[in-house]
Amino acid sequence: MKSILVTGGAGFIGSHLCKRLLNEGNKVICLDNYFTGSKKLVQDLLSCPNFRLEEHDVTHPYQKRFDIDEIYNLACPASPIHYQFDPIQTFRTSVLGAINMLDLACCCNAKILQASTSEVYGDPVVHPQTETYLGNVNTIGIRSCYDEGKRASETLFMDYHRQKKLRIKIIRIFNTYGPNMTVHDGRVVSNFIVQALKNEDITVYGTGTQTRSFQYVDDLVEGMIRMMSTEDDFTGPVNIGNPEEFTMIELAQQIIRLTGSQSKIVFRPLPSDDPRQRKPDISLAQKKLDGWKPTVSLEEGLKRTIQYFQNL
Ligand code: NAD
Ligand code: UDP
Repeated sequence: MKSILVTGGAGFIGSHLCKRLLNEGNKVICLDNYFTGSKKLVQDLLSCPNFRLEEHDVTHPYQKRFDIDEIYNLACPASPIHYQFDPIQTFRTSVLGAINMLDLACCCNAKILQASTSEVYGDPVVHPQTETYLGNVNTIGIRSCYDEGKRASETLFMDYHRQKKLRIKIIRIFNTYGPNMTVHDGRVVSNFIVQALKNEDITVYGTGTQTRSFQYVDDLVEGMIRMMSTEDDFTGPVNIGNPEEFTMIELAQQIIRLTGSQSKIVFRPLPSDDPRQRKPDISLAQKKLDGWKPTVSLEEGLKRTIQYFQNL
């Protein structure tokens, strides 16, 4: 039985990861400060003797009290409205959080995985994005607290690997959705579903011709676990995402169709620095993660997510 620490484990992705790791027979310690996460998302895990939930802010060092074999570092708000709410704290979470968890990993001789993001590519001029593309990030824009924080965390992970021989893994996650997103998450999939289910206007920002590639959360969790078990000499970064690309108008139309909603599409101003296009090249993941590829189509994933929001 492995002892696995998950930071941000009471958030959207973290709650799915904790559940999967427990189901595989591991001991899971979940650290969260409940900024965007909630105890409710891991409520059904609390009765499991191998699950331990601790309130902790990763910007503070975490004192080792037991052996830890692996760390998944997910703590960080991920929705633009949340990471822009307190940008200084977002940057602190990415940078100090990374340092604190890397020091902990050194202390425990644990393997550590960083949840990085497609946002390190900024508003990409290379399409689709390969891991070798160095990105196009505005260092002084409203998204940079998140983008630059995550870029700095990747730097820290690589430097701990080179300087301290720590075993590290970096994944770059592309837009992921699914059950356990909150009603007020603010990201596009949950916004559109919540609006459609209430027959409210669907708020498309800008012209709606910008694209994203949406990955169902189960596919991501499978990729994360496979990445953690790769050979020690493979650090990544590796893209984990679904390469099927859609415009925001196509997404809105699909959600209206699947919910049978009476909602109308309305257009709202495009936030600054909103990337025009995004689509992962997943050749490296397929090669290094035993042929991993997404298995859940957008239609199937949306159906499952709509059902989740209907049952809330
Ligand atoms: P989320 O906001 O639902 O989860 C983040 C979790 O981190 C929450 O439980 C929150 O309370 C916790 N947290 C935030 N700051 C913290 C701090 N200082 N100390 C301890 N806990 C803290 O978001 P998510 O979508 O589940 O994202 C999880 C991770 O995956 C994030 O690191 C995010 O950057 C990364 N990611 C997500 C996506 C996506 O599309 N969902 C894409 C790229 C990267
Ligand atoms: N978006 C939108 N309406 C919304 C929320 C978001 O049109 O109610 C757009 C947003 O401008 C962006 C895309 O959907 O172009 C994805 O936004 P999200 O916040 O989900 O993720 P990110 O921009 O970080 O990829």
